Amino acid sequence: ITETEQAVLDEIDEKDIDFLRLQFTDILGTVKNVSVPARQAEKAFTDGIYFDGSSIEGFVRIQESDMRLVPDPDTFAVLPWRNRDDGCSARMICDVYNTSTGDPFEGDPRYVLKQALDRAHEMGYTVNAAPEPEFFLFEEDEEGRATTKTNDAGGYFDLAPKDLASDVRRDIIYGLENMGFEVEASHHEVAEGQHEINFEYDDALTTADNVGTFRTVVRAIAAQHDYHATFMPKPIPEINGSGMHTHISLFTEDGENAFHDGDDEFDLSATAKSFLAGILEHAPAITAVANPTVNSYKRLVPGYEAPVYVAWSDRNRSALIRKPAARVPAASRIELRSPDPSCNPYLAIAVMIHAGLDGIEQDLEAPDPVRDNIYEFDEAKRDEHGIETLPSNLGEAVDALEEDDAISGALGDHITSKFVEAKRQEFEEYLIDVSDWELDRYLETF
Ligand code: GLN
Ligand code: MG
Ligand code: MG
Ligand code: MG
Repeated sequence: ITETEQAVLDEIDEKDIDFLRLQFTDILGTVKNVSVPARQAEKAFTDGIYFDGSSIEGFVRIQESDMRLVPDPDTFAVLPWRNRDDGCSARMICDVYNTSTGDPFEGDPRYVLKQALDRAHEMGYTVNAAPEPEFFLFEEDEEGRATTKTNDAGGYFDLAPKDLASDVRRDIIYGLENMGFEVEASHHEVAEGQHEINFEYDDALTTADNVGTFRTVVRAIAAQHDYHATFMPKPIPEINGSGMHTHISLFTEDGENAFHDGDDEFDLSATAKSFLAGILEHAPAITAVANPTVNSYKRLVPGYEAPVYVAWSDRNRSALIRKPAARVPAASRIELRSPDPSCNPYLAIAVMIHAGLDGIEQDLEAPDPVRDNIYEFDEAKRDEHGIETLPSNLGEAVDALEEDDAISGALGDHITSKFVEAKRQEFEEYLIDVSDWELDRYLETF
């Protein structure tokens, strides 16, 4: 038992915790949990908790279904939305191990991210990341099912008798703070019913853990107010979708920001530019992971502040990568604007890191930034600037992933094959579906 583990055991005692939720994430990014009585905490640290992985999405084949969960004591948090009378619960995020070999399970997304961090470490870097998850709050119908009616519909926000949205947002923020989040800012997003809550950057592993927690807290607290919070990328066609811009930077072992160069026009070091160039180079394959649903591609269209073209900029927000203005050297970073909150944050951050490190290893040079609104460029102008287009649907993105050995290699054979299989099937189901749009357009015309 380590000191941190002992501190967790003490806290379980002091706070009279009855149940522990041991959490992990499947390949598709869904947080799963196994609940155990809190008195098993010590055993969980020393031996792990065994579970049957065969029912978890894409985890294992039936014949090799025994998995072992080992909780990470740094992730201990009391769940604020469970109240006392039904017992107090806490959670810990776990690493998943293969029981037959004792090795980390290669289908565990957290392990994939840890491997990316190991690679960064071998090159002398630690990685910081911060996401900006956006979401919609929708009303529920009489049966408690989600609708797409926004809670502040039609811009009549000011006339509503009560500003319910800000009440919900406030409670979500309290919930997040109780779970140990440093909330930096929250605001109503561009679209009606759309919100964004920003939390403090952290090391990349903590940030990926935080995204899963964030989605859980937001949904749970919205539900207490009878709202449905959705991280679906594009729930309403003609307004902005929800992104999860991801900021990233590398630090050296002695705590210097390796992305900062005060003498550079853009305040970016050569390392940062190669990292950025690596992401641009692998952008199509990254898209499969960062934008993993059919619906993701309804967001990546011109005109709604989401990226479509593979370029970077220090000014405008139509580019795939933006260099945000940094107030202090430590804040120099790049922002990848394609990810959406339906992605698996471990895998999305892992592929970003590998792509960037690849750029550093190959000494890639970043192209010039594009300062004009790229949405307004025609094809000839894009060609002139050498600007490629992101995959336009899930099928193309999965093709790109399969063709990119660096990115599929980063995910490993197990995850790549399960992911590709699941996503091809999802895309095929979509292709044979007949949508409302088609019925509206053709049923009475032909
Ligand atoms: N909602 C936009 C997107 O899809 C981003 C809007 C913003 O944060 N400026 O990425
Ligand atoms: Mg923002
Ligand atoms: Mg935003
Ligand atoms: Mg942003």
